[in-house]
Amino acid sequence: MIEIFLSKDEYEYDIHSLIKAFYQGEQVNILKTVPAAAEPGGLQMFIDLGEQIIRLRAVKNKEELYKKTDTVPADGKKNYRNHLKRMLYGCLSHITGKKLPWGTLTGVRPTKIAFEKLERGIGEEDIKVYMKEQYLCSGEKTNLSLQVAGREITLLQELDYRNGYSIYIGIPFCPSTCLYCSFTSYSLEKSKGLVEQYLCVLFQEITYAGTCYPDKKLSTVYLGGGTPTTLTALQLDRLLTHIRNTFDFSYVMEYTVEAGRPDSITAEKLKVLKDHGVTRISINPQSMKQQTLDVIGRQHTVGQVVEAFYTARETGHENINMDVIIGLPGERKEDVAYTLKEIDKLKPDSLTVHTLAVKRAARLNTQKENYQDMAPTDTLEMFKLTSDYAKEAGYLPYYLYRQKNMADNLENIGYAKFGKEGLYNILIMEEKQTILALGAGALSKFVFQEENRIERVENVKSLKDYIGRIDEMIKRKHNFLQDNS
Ligand code: SF4
Repeated sequence: MIEIFLSKDEYEYDIHSLIKAFYQGEQVNILKTVPAAAEPGGLQMFIDLGEQIIRLRAVKNKEELYKKTDTVPADGKKNYRNHLKRMLYGCLSHITGKKLPWGTLTGVRPTKIAFEKLERGIGEEDIKVYMKEQYLCSGEKTNLSLQVAGREITLLQELDYRNGYSIYIGIPFCPSTCLYCSFTSYSLEKSKGLVEQYLCVLFQEITYAGTCYPDKKLSTVYLGGGTPTTLTALQLDRLLTHIRNTFDFSYVMEYTVEAGRPDSITAEKLKVLKDHGVTRISINPQSMKQQTLDVIGRQHTVGQVVEAFYTARETGHENINMDVIIGLPGERKEDVAYTLKEIDKLKPDSLTVHTLAVKRAARLNTQKENYQDMAPTDTLEMFKLTSDYAKEAGYLPYYLYRQKNMADNLENIGYAKFGKEGLYNILIMEEKQTILALGAGALSKFVFQEENRIERVENVKSLKDYIGRIDEMIKRKHNFLQDNS
């Protein structure tokens, strides 16, 4: 356990996240009561936050490992925070001998800084200097941020995103629950009896959403979950018909449906999607190693991935994404290389590489004792294999984000062939546009560009609560929009 003695109720989150980035899996406790003297045991850090002076001291087993006092220029809270994080980084790097590729950046959207600076016309060289000085970010990650942000800006220029909004619709059912899942998802086997009731109330929320923005252009529509293709072909047809009848599709530039689980896909469902004008789908193998699929509870075969992919192509789907995850239990870099080789035979239009993040609610965490010996040790090499492959195969990175507890502090990256990028992914990551989110556990984000303000309105996660409280969910959005019009 690592104990942090902090003199003020401020910057706790920043301090905690940065220490966790160095010490993954360790418990980090932030305390207010400073002991009279350092005690024997684990690492203890003493952080004294003065008005213009920060004092930092690290002790282990009563032995002083690090000590530093800095004067902080009085130029605002943001600079104070950055200064504190750099000091802490210096201390942790000294003690552990480690460097973090993203430096002191611990947030979800590390590309946002490059994006905003490029948008303001600041040159790449100046941004590189800034990223290094302010955040100690490595040259490699700064270049990646610039590449991604540059591509995002170009793509968003093709979209009138300032006058538009997007829709997300969640279908919280899956054929089975994956080992690492922390999404709002219910196994179809256990919840079959609730699907029709869910659709019935979801239709009500969709109908309401159709009245929210009569003067805005709908830019993108995204059906995720869960796995929307868990619905039957008939249910999908009814849902997509209702969506078409509710919204004006004149300006829609992208219509995505996640067909993630190959065991939920049939030719009939793929045809329904095509007939309703869906422009982009996702078929996710995660790994092409059967043993891994069995361990992570996917309940489908590698053969089903290949079959679903070819059926989708035959049905006319010209923009297919595939997701893979690196760091899955029991995998080595040879397995990732094999997965990439098999994916290369299919040639999807985009490839999203996730780094496994162990979430609190996932079985991988709640039953962690069963998987302790299976954690890969070579995720950095795996990650490099994927980025090398993407480069060789002509995929360009176009969005990236990070999550808590990701193996080796890496990131999730979306790669795509030129012109096959997922616009919705950029909109949600860069928070450039309001996204009305419908369904159980859906989180709407309302973006007020002029005021530089983002507000969130959440639906309840529980399936039964969502069904029982649909009027309240609609009212939450209605009241928010009334109060903020
Ligand atoms: S397919 Fe996705 S949403 Fe469904 S159980 Fe697996 S991780 Fe969760």
